[in-house]
Amino acid sequence: MARTHGHGNPNWTRDETILALDLYFDLNGKIPSGSDERVKALSEMLRRFPYHAEASRKESFRNPDGVAFKLQNLKQVATGKGLGNVSETDRAVWLEFGSSPTKTKSLANLIRAGVVASESAKPVIEDVQFTEGRVITELHSRREREPKLRERLLSSRRNSERLFCEMCITPAPSSNEALREAHFEAHHLVPLASTGARITRLSDMALLCANCHRLLHRAIAIEKRWLTVAEGKAVCGV
Ligand SMILES: [Zn+2]
Ligand SMILES: [Zn+2]
Repeated sequence: MARTHGHGNPNWTRDETILALDLYFDLNGKIPSGSDERVKALSEMLRRFPYHAEASRKESFRNPDGVAFKLQNLKQVATGKGLGNVSETDRAVWLEFGSSPTKTKSLANLIRAGVVASESAKPVIEDVQFTEGRVITELHSRREREPKLRERLLSSRRNSERLFCEMCITPAPSSNEALREAHFEAHHLVPLASTGARITRLSDMALLCANCHRLLHRAIAIEKRWLTVAEGKAVCGV
């Protein structure tokens, strides 16, 4: 029995399952083992996916045995036999693409191209290395991108009608309700390393427009010291 799932590996996403289905169609119903070159190639591709960054460092993550197991699952959905391990995503992907290998192939090609492109793409906040070093910097940027945190910050500002960038004081564009908040990002006022905090308080956050946020981080990287929003405003001249 292949050692594949459990072990805290994240569930297969729709994109990953589409790639597996694409291979499944290529295999014409014969599922090879994890030692097959095509299975290994898919495993390698999945380990390069831009999400699951931490999980993909674990050896068991999407390893060839895991991929072979997923192909078996897809065969089970396709044939309706032995559905014990089949996931909701397996079923949903099969429902959507099971009757169209061509559609699956073209979407799989796009996904593969996307994975390759994302490797050369810069992170949202480019080149920033605070004095704390790379790991802390990445942790910091990731924390700032947490959707829940941003949502909490936005809702507190929404209620107090303070939906404006704290650096350039530009208010949210009011014309389109659905778009107005897309303007904003959450910025940590203090570097994570200095607080060591696991929980972020709203009072440690500033609401910035995407442009000012980028400028401020760039200024911090150039000055090699943490800047307040007011200092950033002066340095960036906004
Ligand atoms: Zn701004
Ligand atoms: Zn920031």
